[in-house]
Amino acid sequence: MIFGVQTHTTVLRVGTFSCPQCRSFARYEYKRARSYAMIFFIPVFPTGAQTEYVECHQCGAAFQPSILDRIQGDQERLNHFEQAVINVFLKMILADGRVEIAEKDMFRRVLEHYSSQRFSDAQIEAGLARVKQERKRPDQYLAGIGANLNDEAKEQLMLHGFFIAKSDGFVMQEELDLLLQIGTALGMSRLHAQGVIDHYYHIH
Ligand SMILES: [Zn+2]
Repeated sequence: MIFGVQTHTTVLRVGTFSCPQCRSFARYEYKRARSYAMIFFIPVFPTGAQTEYVECHQCGAAFQPSILDRIQGDQERLNHFEQAVINVFLKMILADGRVEIAEKDMFRRVLEHYSSQRFSDAQIEAGLARVKQERKRPDQYLAGIGANLNDEAKEQLMLHGFFIAKSDGFVMQEELDLLLQIGTALGMSRLHAQGVIDHYYHIH
């Protein structure tokens, strides 16, 4: 008889939180882990206590569920951040003057890092129309955001913007200009932001 213990993990829900480990606003998964006694690799009965924890999608760190109570007060700040990221990435889709499927797909992929929302085509189109009409600069969307992010989080936000720009095959000057504006709007020096862009441009 083969006997063992296996851990089963279930995702109970997802959301966005402010991760104390990687200091970014990131998607989290609220998980339940349970150990099962196994006979012939068939889970038979739960053994021991089940554990619930919150895992950061960005850095993989796990926290006590109470972490989510602590950040409830941050919800408004968080929503502001999420919406700001959505807006600047929508601007990136628009930057080269053409909206392409590859850009919308990449937009969805990078947003997984910041939001638990899933965007339909219609929602993206509505967002694009709104951003076009608002005619705001990145620094208007990103006001106050940079102060809550460390350098890695800022650089990553730029990298994700770069991925959207690159997704249709070419990075246009308008897109590079927008990236630079995003970097400086986050509080990076021009030189730092330009260095980040040059770096991505050469390795991706
Ligand atoms: Zn994290």
